[in-house]
Amino acid sequence: VKEHGGGGVKMYEPGTATKTLERILLENELRKSVQMGHFTLEYQPKMNLYHGELSGVEALVRWNHPDLGRIPPDKFIPIAEETKIILPLGEWILREACKQAYNWQQRGYKPFRIAVNMSAVQLDEPTIVETIQRILTEEKVSPEFIELELTETSFADRVEMRHTIQRIRDIGIQVAIDDFGTGYSTFSYIKELPADILKIDMSFIRDIDVNENSRAIVKAIVTLAATAGLEVIAEGVETEKQANVLIELGCLEGQGYFYSKPLPAEECEFMIPKIDE
Ligand code: C2E
Ligand code: CA
Ligand code: CA
Ligand code: CA
Repeated sequence: VKEHGGGGVKMYEPGTATKTLERILLENELRKSVQMGHFTLEYQPKMNLYHGELSGVEALVRWNHPDLGRIPPDKFIPIAEETKIILPLGEWILREACKQAYNWQQRGYKPFRIAVNMSAVQLDEPTIVETIQRILTEEKVSPEFIELELTETSFADRVEMRHTIQRIRDIGIQVAIDDFGTGYSTFSYIKELPADILKIDMSFIRDIDVNENSRAIVKAIVTLAATAGLEVIAEGVETEKQANVLIELGCLEGQGYFYSKPLPAEECEFMIPKIDE
């Protein structure tokens, strides 16, 4: 229904009404699913592009709703953030990733870092550092094997947030800036940011073999990382060509469908070297 003149009634706009209902439904179902444990984690290998060896994994949450089926994170994470359901869910995610790290270490896999995505809403909790510390202790995982992926908003927002991030690093947990290059915290004041790793957004990787611009940006980020003493990794590597261009540009870590999609732990572990091999 179109608006007529000033102050038209909008409540029959079909898209809006549908969205609201869907949202309410998803919010309710999210709450129930956190209670019922309808979530799992998948793990996507991070590779050394040059040697083709696994260097770590990223944990990605999956919502397997009994009736609605699998709902993608891009659809429910924003709702979980707005409603703060991300707080209990995020704790579960970190704990589950720690349990998996412990499990792999006990079974003789070479130790490596598991990266866990953490939302700015979680970082905003006054007790988040203690929560993280407690989960690691309870699950018997040393902080050096955990990495947190935070988006640029977490760094740009406020000085308290950066302080929190620094306290997390003081524990010995590595911090990566996810989707790097898409926000505004870039280049000039990167030195001020409490981070260990830059994760180059996949939008720059997608056309890296044909777009001179993307190549220049990736090259600049690699140089920046080297200058600032940060690690760098590319996400969304889908082809061998992209991997080769990345190596040429000096980016030696990558992640993407070319190597593996995110997999359940039991499938992912075939890619992990054992200590005695
Ligand atoms: P992200 O952290 O940037 O994760 C990367 C996304 O790209 C993942 O989608 C992954 O499956 C996908 N991907 C991996 N390789 C490729 C590739 O080669 N090509 C393309 N086109 N895509 C690739 P996913 O799992 O659907 O997650 C989407 C987003 O949802 C994540 O983006 C992250 O922002 C959020 N998310 C996922 N799991 C969690 C979580 O446990 N906690 C939080 N707070 N957010 C999460
Ligand atoms: Ca991520
Ligand atoms: Ca990302
Ligand atoms: Ca993203």
